[in-house]
Amino acid sequence: AQRNPGQPEYLQAVAEVMESLWPFISQHPRYAEHGLLDRLVEPERIIQFRVSWVDDQGDVHVNRGYRIQHNSAIGPFKGGLRFHPSVNQSVLKFLAFEQTFKNALTTLPMGGGKGGSDFDPKGKSRGEIMRFCQAFMTELYRHIGSDTDVPAGDIGVGGREIGFMNGMLKKITNRSDCVLTGKGLSYGGSLIRPEATGYGTVYFAQEMLLHGGRSMKGLRVGVSGSGNVAQFAVEKVMQLGGKVICVSDSSGTVYDADGFTPEKLALLMKVKNEHYARVSQYAEEAGVEYLEGKTPWHLPMDVALPCATQNELNEEDALMLVKNGVQAVAEGANMPCTAEAVTIFEKNGVLYAPGKASNAGGVATSGLEMSQNAMRMSWTAEEVDERLLEIMQGIHRSCLKYGTREDGTVSYTDGANIAGFVKVAEAMLAQGVI
Ligand code: NDP
Repeated sequence: AQRNPGQPEYLQAVAEVMESLWPFISQHPRYAEHGLLDRLVEPERIIQFRVSWVDDQGDVHVNRGYRIQHNSAIGPFKGGLRFHPSVNQSVLKFLAFEQTFKNALTTLPMGGGKGGSDFDPKGKSRGEIMRFCQAFMTELYRHIGSDTDVPAGDIGVGGREIGFMNGMLKKITNRSDCVLTGKGLSYGGSLIRPEATGYGTVYFAQEMLLHGGRSMKGLRVGVSGSGNVAQFAVEKVMQLGGKVICVSDSSGTVYDADGFTPEKLALLMKVKNEHYARVSQYAEEAGVEYLEGKTPWHLPMDVALPCATQNELNEEDALMLVKNGVQAVAEGANMPCTAEAVTIFEKNGVLYAPGKASNAGGVATSGLEMSQNAMRMSWTAEEVDERLLEIMQGIHRSCLKYGTREDGTVSYTDGANIAGFVKVAEAMLAQGVI
């Protein structure tokens, strides 16, 4: 804490991982040698820069841009860019730290990183978004590259923003390599990348249920958020026969006891992705209930998929979910459940998957996008989806390997942390003290 003052999110993420790793490290003390743990919690490099841009009225704004290059032991730094007013060094360091383990779990050769800006895209015109993205890239470009650091999207950064940034990157580097992932299909993107995080989260939830002899079919599923991850989680749940009863945004929750349909999802996507509007507008157009200022967790559901943001589900929410009989929780977002909430789930026998396992499908598919770009080839949607499912099943197996307790129950938290740690630690130990 002394080395990272004022960084609660980072300390929270490190404490959670270390707590679950500690019994394993005590049994395998070589992982505490050569300063390995001290090196693991210190990012390799942190870049902070000024982003100045001009709004539609001609006024100048100054935002802060960041890239945290956390760990490159197993491959180039890889992780998303987040544009949200809550972005600061603590939030990005926590995300980059988590990303390092998540990327290791995918088994693809990717290190961990994260970046972004405290820029708020809400209410900005297309021209303002474009100028901001261009200004951001005029500094970031000198720190990234397909073998160095490969950014992608995250909150506030979708296909449109990736396009604007990639355009400026190409212009100022005079190179055509498609460094960013999450690109549009017309300039090097991969099929299924937009779907991958949401689909992967649902595949993982399904694996957990199947392992316990159950399935998603017929279950009521609560989804929070209504952005990229949430939308495709809704789609995959419907495909697997579950009933999605809610989505949300930072203003409130849409409750739909009858369940989403493909038509309703198409409307939600139109409202969110074309009009950049609130879920309240979707509720009005779809004729479903809107709960102003409420999160979804008081609603009765069998499976909870938090897909919005960090610390969106607390102890009280977890108690309510348990009371309502929730069976499984899989994180689509990064660290959406507080540590206290996770304890409640684990104590009450609720299957709980941490984001580094259950939302790894996005970065895994980004890894597949990198492979396709390097080969100058594109795979079909079916091929990519099949690999995505295999990767999620592989992560589930890794969690079982390291997280199965003596009584046969599974701590997915311990399983994911240990499996990811072992891979990164082995690579760091093999490459000496650097
Ligand atoms: P989007 O920007 O597409 O959507 C974010 C959603 O979360 C919006 O509905 C937003 O509502 C809501 N949200 C954001 N901040 C808050 C808040 N403080 N309180 C309540 N709701 C909030 O982002 P993504 O869907 O890409 O990302 C969602 C989560 O998934 C993040 O934690 C991200 O790190 C994680 N993730 C994303 C991956 C990806 O591939 N995109 C990969 C792995 C993880 P509003 O519009 O009101 O802000």
